[in-house]
Amino acid sequence: MAESQTFDLTIIGSGPGGYVAAIRAAQLGLKTALVEKGPALGGTCTHIGCIPTKALLYSAEILDRTREAARYGVAASEVRLDLPAAHKHKADVVRRSAKGVEYLMKKNGVVVLQGHGRLNGPGKVGVTSAQGATQIVSTRNAILATGSVPKLLPGLKVDGTRVITSTEALALEFVPKTFLVLGAGAVGVEFASLYRSFGSSVTLVEMLPRVLPIEDEEISGELAKALKKRGIEVRVGTRVEEVKVLDKGVEVRVLPEKGGGETLKADVLLVAVGRKPVTEGIGIEGTRIELDRGYVKVDGLMRTGEASVYAIGDLVATPALAHVASQEGIVAVETIAGRKPEPINYDQIPNATYCEPEVASIGLTEQAARARGHKVRVGRFPFSANAKARILGGQEGLVKLVGDERYDELLGIHIVGPKATELIAEGGMALRLEATVEDLFHAIHAHPTLSEAMGEAALNLHARGIHL
Ligand SMILES: Cc1cc2nc3c(=O)[nH]c(=O)nc-3n(C[C@H](O)[C@H](O)[C@H](O)COP(=O)(O)OP(=O)(O)OC[C@H]3O[C@@H](n4cnc5c(N)ncnc54)[C@H](O)[C@@H]3O)c2cc1C
Repeated sequence: MAESQTFDLTIIGSGPGGYVAAIRAAQLGLKTALVEKGPALGGTCTHIGCIPTKALLYSAEILDRTREAARYGVAASEVRLDLPAAHKHKADVVRRSAKGVEYLMKKNGVVVLQGHGRLNGPGKVGVTSAQGATQIVSTRNAILATGSVPKLLPGLKVDGTRVITSTEALALEFVPKTFLVLGAGAVGVEFASLYRSFGSSVTLVEMLPRVLPIEDEEISGELAKALKKRGIEVRVGTRVEEVKVLDKGVEVRVLPEKGGGETLKADVLLVAVGRKPVTEGIGIEGTRIELDRGYVKVDGLMRTGEASVYAIGDLVATPALAHVASQEGIVAVETIAGRKPEPINYDQIPNATYCEPEVASIGLTEQAARARGHKVRVGRFPFSANAKARILGGQEGLVKLVGDERYDELLGIHIVGPKATELIAEGGMALRLEATVEDLFHAIHAHPTLSEAMGEAALNLHARGIHL
């Protein structure tokens, strides 16, 4: 065991939490080490999460658009998926993104230590290489940013072809004829959408009463309608009783809440029922670090119960999103550096699901606003009344705004429809600046753009819509 270097900060895990924290730490003059056990930097997000899913979903979007090319006066013959080429595009984007992280570490003078990291007593982190050699580094502070892994159903094994998680779903070398997805959170819905575009017959099963259960109820309803219109079987309020893995494919016994169990058959079953934090093997036993339902307990500045040890990202019980992990990394580092970081307002985190049609939101849903005692007013604008949406051929969905009657405070923005994941940025800025609903329609939106739907939804809330 070699004891070598001394750092101000050692970060375990190089996902969007860890590597962003490392950059901010270097900017603030902290001598920083970043420990990563995988072969490349970037974490789940870069290698098996955000980036590869969106790369494949872009291939799906082009495929869908090209299938409709004739409608726009473009003759395209023999439109078909070239799956190896789509995988190549995905791999290329992933490789370049990981290289980008590597470059940023060099540029900022962050020392990258390859190996499995664990806390090794106060002020020490052990890093064990793949060959089994351990070096101990001394560190004034540590950030745990080890992320999460897919949750499985008890007794069910992933075999990579019949039973898969999101990781294998990103690498399938064939398009299943029948594809069954368990779990209609963002990951499940995105893969249901992707494989539907690729040509699978898709069934989406969700135990809760609606798809994307964290979204506004009305938006979930609109999305379910749109998915059904695309030919996806949507079974909500449906529990899985048993999974049988056959020689070819699976048989899944499901029980809808309303009764009448049935057996669904599929070539491939994607289990997308959530993720669990990686807390094992990182040396938290015997420390003052506490867990809560498996997540590391932290305060608003990401401090754990152990002095000078912080935890961020999917490891803690906040929304499991890359941009949340990154912001938590910044808060932790600024705290370490003696700054006074602004605590994160978790009511203002954008959610984005890149299915077709897209869904995005920020702020309170109508239900949450009512539950918090707001005098709620709602404004809506359907994309069917928006010229740019008509030009793009994406007329499904709507913008829904939730406001408070008393001061016209804007509380939430919910979108299902074309480019929702880009449009939501305006909502984020509006909430950040404590905009009123009226501000949203006084801000002039260019014509013709999808963003006009935002201004029109605000006008609608004030019962003075123009284009509806
Ligand atoms: C299919 C899918 C799609 C997603 N799409 C989106 C999206 O579009 N937008 C979004 O915001 N979020 C998305 N997410 C979620 C997002 O990927 C995570 O929230 C984010 O990656 C969490 O970042 P993190 O830094 O906490 O951990 P991770 O990104 O999981 O990184 C943790 C890193 O720590 C390393 N590690 C673990 N243990 C050790 C150890 N002991 N020693 C050394 N290294 C270790 C791991 O190898 C990994 O590289 C998606 C997730 C999935 C699965």
